[in-house]
Amino acid sequence: MKAVRSMVLVSSDPLSMERGAQEVYNRLLAEIKLFNLQDEISVTMVGDVGRHDATPMLIVYPEAVIYGPVSPEDVHFLVEEHLYKGRIASNLQAPARELTGRIAWIHARKGTLPAEHRVVLERAGIIDPDSIDDYIVHDGYQAIGKVLTEMTPADVIGEIEKSGLRGRGGAGFPTGSKWRFVSKAPGTPKYVICNADESEPGTFKDRLVLEGDPHSILEAMTIAAYAVGATEGYIYVRGEYRLAQERLKTAIHQARTMGLLGEKIFGTDFSFDIHVHSGAGAYICGEETALIESIEGKRGEPRPRPPYPTTHGLWGKPTLVNNVETLANIPAIIRHGASWYRSIGTPSSPGTKVYTIMGNVNATGLIEVPMGITLREVISIYGKGMKNGSNFKLAQTGGSSGSIIPASLQDTPMDFDSFSKAGVALGSGALLICDEDTCVVDLTKVLINFFRFESCGKCSPCRIGNQRSFEVLTDISEGRGKLADLDFLQMLADNMTLLSNCGLGQTAGTPLRDILKYFRAEVEAHIRLKVCPAGVCPMEAKVPAR
Ligand code: SF4
Repeated sequence: MKAVRSMVLVSSDPLSMERGAQEVYNRLLAEIKLFNLQDEISVTMVGDVGRHDATPMLIVYPEAVIYGPVSPEDVHFLVEEHLYKGRIASNLQAPARELTGRIAWIHARKGTLPAEHRVVLERAGIIDPDSIDDYIVHDGYQAIGKVLTEMTPADVIGEIEKSGLRGRGGAGFPTGSKWRFVSKAPGTPKYVICNADESEPGTFKDRLVLEGDPHSILEAMTIAAYAVGATEGYIYVRGEYRLAQERLKTAIHQARTMGLLGEKIFGTDFSFDIHVHSGAGAYICGEETALIESIEGKRGEPRPRPPYPTTHGLWGKPTLVNNVETLANIPAIIRHGASWYRSIGTPSSPGTKVYTIMGNVNATGLIEVPMGITLREVISIYGKGMKNGSNFKLAQTGGSSGSIIPASLQDTPMDFDSFSKAGVALGSGALLICDEDTCVVDLTKVLINFFRFESCGKCSPCRIGNQRSFEVLTDISEGRGKLADLDFLQMLADNMTLLSNCGLGQTAGTPLRDILKYFRAEVEAHIRLKVCPAGVCPMEAKVPAR
């Protein structure tokens, strides 16, 4: 896929084909050439787009306009109007009543480009992160002022619940519910922890917030502390994030000096202070109970759960643990209200998501967009298409522990519920985009190798499962694989998910399961033919299968 101005998708399910989709496709190519637009517009047959009554159907990106049913005779007008003159051919648009599922969702965006919408990163790169004055000028500390002078703790929790904010650390748990659990948990003191141990390979969104807008995290934690009744907070920052740690310490000092942290904040009876705790480089300390162990000065190993940190957290006391991106949403929700927040994103996953785009695309980097954007849009609009005109093969979503998803799922809205229905994990927001030169065996071997090293070793399903998976994948990639290995890998993946103590082991099997589900033929080619279809694996030891 090369960088193009517009992308046209043509439905090619059996009914569309019966109704002339192939001719529509051919006419599109011819008309686009007639208008000399062939270098600016791509046309792709995409199978079933989800609705049969209005087929053949066209979806034109980036506007996400849906046309249907489209006949070959309509094509000249459509190309001239929309693709040449830039006007939507409204008489050919599919009627809203004909649309269901993901097509209806695309239509509901009313043909708007899914533009970047910055909530989490609204000040990053705009303000001086070392200046509390700059933060205050840009509406900083307004939300905590409102909370302490106009709202009760119950009001604050209610507002966060109404906003529908879900944790951005990966699991998507409702933030307001977590706050309520901690507020109701018996025992004092209570703690608030910001999980800033961002160690997922390829993910650096939290670092941008910590380095670019540190006061927003302090403000959010103070609001959370007021809501749940906490008096002390910790920011557990990845050890390698030195600049982030320095900026946070500067911000804490400034906030204390101005009476925004410490005793009797804003002259009220509410007191709260924050400490920065540096991690020491262990990936597992991003797991909330391992992180708590680490703050307590112990080896960073996850605790069995239940009990959960909401009741038995830091030093056995009720503790709220929220991720950086989750917290960065809080001041804006308080300032603008829950309804404003709900107007962004999808009904079940309101708000925005920050993604890091990596891999074989023309533009890599960081974007913040409303929840519900599709992978195809990320690649074509923000990634500026696939590098060197290559074809999209798969994406790995959510960092190492995320899913490997094939091209057939690239039109699934990226929100918690749609992804969960498709059996995909949204994870941390890292998107590794891969072309056809990527070998799924090689990719999975790299991921499992990572888990093998980062496993804390506390429980055997994870410690042994990752080691054995790596050995089997190595055999397959070097020509020593046998067909029985596929069942063995499936068993290892299932048992790691079922029996591991924490999220690391429970998610380590995800890439294994995904390649066996979506790319089995490619894995089998390594075993049956001793060939790596992508030409990546060495296949050195071409010995017969055991
Ligand atoms: Fe440690 Fe892995 Fe067990 Fe988690 S699942 S406790 S990382 S061995």
